[in-house]
Amino acid sequence: PDRIRVGIVGYGNLGRGVETSIGLNPDLELVGVFSRRDPASVETLRPETPVYALDDIASFADRVDVLVLCGGSKSDLPEQTPLLAKQFTVVDSFDTHAKVPEHFAAVDAAAQAGDNVAIISTGWDPGLFSLNRLFGEAILPQGETYTFWGRGLSQGHSDALRRIAGVAGAVQYTLPSETAIERVRAGENPELSTREKHVRECFVVLEDGADAEAIREEIVTMPDYFEPYDTNVHFISADELARDHAGMPHGGFVIRSGETSPGVSQTIEYRLALDSNPEFTSSVLVAYARAAARLAARGERGALTPFDVAPGLLSPKSPEQLRAELL
Ligand code: NAP
Repeated sequence: PDRIRVGIVGYGNLGRGVETSIGLNPDLELVGVFSRRDPASVETLRPETPVYALDDIASFADRVDVLVLCGGSKSDLPEQTPLLAKQFTVVDSFDTHAKVPEHFAAVDAAAQAGDNVAIISTGWDPGLFSLNRLFGEAILPQGETYTFWGRGLSQGHSDALRRIAGVAGAVQYTLPSETAIERVRAGENPELSTREKHVRECFVVLEDGADAEAIREEIVTMPDYFEPYDTNVHFISADELARDHAGMPHGGFVIRSGETSPGVSQTIEYRLALDSNPEFTSSVLVAYARAAARLAARGERGALTPFDVAPGLLSPKSPEQLRAELL
């Protein structure tokens, strides 16, 4: 069968990860990268990858089966996903959990109007972790679900920090609370507040003349991102940022523990340990890009989330092969 033709919109960490991941998937073909920046200024990992101006993307309507949207969740995707879903089949990794319903509605309206498929909020959280929360609840209706993250660098939260005026560079780590994990593993089914489960730690480089206290205040009060957590802000130099904070590890786990009859306890645990959060997230986006292209070819329309996509569609294998090899 013909290869699925993929375009990358936005070339940051995820954009690079998608470029790498397409190289591992022989049924996919990379058409190119579409950037808001001057294409001549964007250097790709593979020199043969073409870079085009995002403004010219409409002329690629017949040359692209699916776009993987790699912009930031804070300000890029709320604008780009609805705009592009009018013209293309798209997938994104929108990760502002509190705004998912709003994003879904905007993308659904655009995808319906354009007769396209748009899968939003793929990745690992939202994404694979969401699916595992769903499995846990559906299979063990009597129980509790826990999600823990880290220690890891959060792309979405680092992105949000970097967009604050006066911030020259920044990273954000999420740390799980060890006491909280132990209580869950012991089957205590504790009630844990957001604040009890995780701590957020920010390392920020200021631009010359920036007001550190004002920026600290803007960070710790930022709704959805930092306000619901205990957030520590450390100001460091650009050299320290480059030396100590260059890696992008992440991970975490989803645990569901419950009882199927009194005294009979059942636990499901799903764990990710990631050397590179963006390379992993991109790998998930690419699998969902395959599913989106297939759903579009079947005549499906509108916005979907990972909950709505049958798992077999993620695999390059045929349904016959999946039944024979993996069932
Ligand atoms: P990023 O590196 O900051 O890139 C975001 C956008 O910024 C790019 O699309 C790019 O657009 C622009 N950009 C990148 N490098 C640039 C540079 N040197 N100069 C100017 N502009 C540049 O963000 P990311 O790490 O790829 O993450 C993107 C989003 O993925 C995050 O906001 C997060 O919400 C989401 N995410 C989701 C999950 C999940 O599990 N669901 C996990 C990880 C991340 P242009 O090319 O158009 O300029």
